[in-house]
Amino acid sequence: MKALVKEAAGPGFMLKNVPVPTIRDDEVLIKVRRAGVCGTDVHIYEWDDWARGRVKPPIVVGHEFAGDVVEVGKLVTDVREGDRVTAEGHIVDGRCLLCRTGNAHVCPFTRIIGVDRDGCFAEYIAMPATNVWHLDDNVSYDIGGIHDPMGNAFHTALTADIPGSTVLVTGCGPIGIFAVGICKAAGASRIIASDVNDRRLELARRMGAHDVVHPGDAEAAVKAVTDGLGVDVVLEMSGVPSAIHQAFALVRVGGRVQMLGIPAKPMEVNFATEVIFKGITIYGVVGRRMYDTWHQMTRFLRSGEFDPTPVITHRFPLEQADEAMHVIKSGEAGKVIFEIA
Ligand code: NAD
Ligand code: ZN
Repeated sequence: MKALVKEAAGPGFMLKNVPVPTIRDDEVLIKVRRAGVCGTDVHIYEWDDWARGRVKPPIVVGHEFAGDVVEVGKLVTDVREGDRVTAEGHIVDGRCLLCRTGNAHVCPFTRIIGVDRDGCFAEYIAMPATNVWHLDDNVSYDIGGIHDPMGNAFHTALTADIPGSTVLVTGCGPIGIFAVGICKAAGASRIIASDVNDRRLELARRMGAHDVVHPGDAEAAVKAVTDGLGVDVVLEMSGVPSAIHQAFALVRVGGRVQMLGIPAKPMEVNFATEVIFKGITIYGVVGRRMYDTWHQMTRFLRSGEFDPTPVITHRFPLEQADEAMHVIKSGEAGKVIFEIA
């Protein structure tokens, strides 16, 4: 089968012919139809410090996908050949303290497809049946293929108290734009979206943001619509240190900051003034809650109140991986997906 492979330590991906994966008795084989391209894939492509420390080539990359089940292992009872599915890409041990207390999203033994084991930028992928998520008939492969980052946004937004709240979203990459639409559907009373990139602010506006601003104008915009108090909730979705400081500054006293964006390096925070004396709550987001987030996502899609379609802006075949990486780095894209026949 065709697959995008990180062949050796160093930049780039290689499109190669590799064997179709074999499945274990508790796994299923999925024919991949669509696969989402993510910042993590760009890190692996560029072979930055994080990738060097984590990824062991050779490995098939990619972790967001949807497709059809074509084979099931002997022990699999709830997934059948022909099912249209996506999957949770974090494979957890299921036995540790975190897994057995409903917190599998922070299982210390997590292995991620496309990072720690073969991924989905390929014609087929093997997945444990426990990780498979069925798609409703009216959910396209396109939307199925972006459940992973959409799930990050659902997790970030819906672990805060959104109905009636004023919300600031700092960073309107694909995940921030999804989050704007989720907050809208969940009944936020005011959504202010901030980014340096006008193309992305336009998408945030389309997904329901009331105010779209550059970071330098965020303070004035927040003060104007919150009686000078600051917002109830900030969803920090950029990972940029100045935006993280702004999140602490523009959340109201007693408010909540949901931290999804990952700073590239350690950063200084004045805990006394930025956190403690403001009495705020900070929540660190890892992946998607298993499987509360997935149920919420399916129900929001079913309701018709949340439609992520406008976020997908570019599609490529696997042969154009370099172009896909380039367009993501350019900042011109919303969500980029691979179409795999
Ligand atoms: P992205 O890089 O496409 O989006 C980040 C956005 O922040 C960009 O649009 C950028 O223009 C904007 N930005 C830059 N400086 C800013 C500033 N000062 N104020 C406001 N916005 C600013 O990334 P994405 O794929 O949407 O992911 C968002 C973040 O979440 C990244 O940091 C990513 O690494 C992280 N992430 C975390 C998890 C998790 O489980 N915690 C999962 C996936 C991604
Ligand atoms: Zn575990």
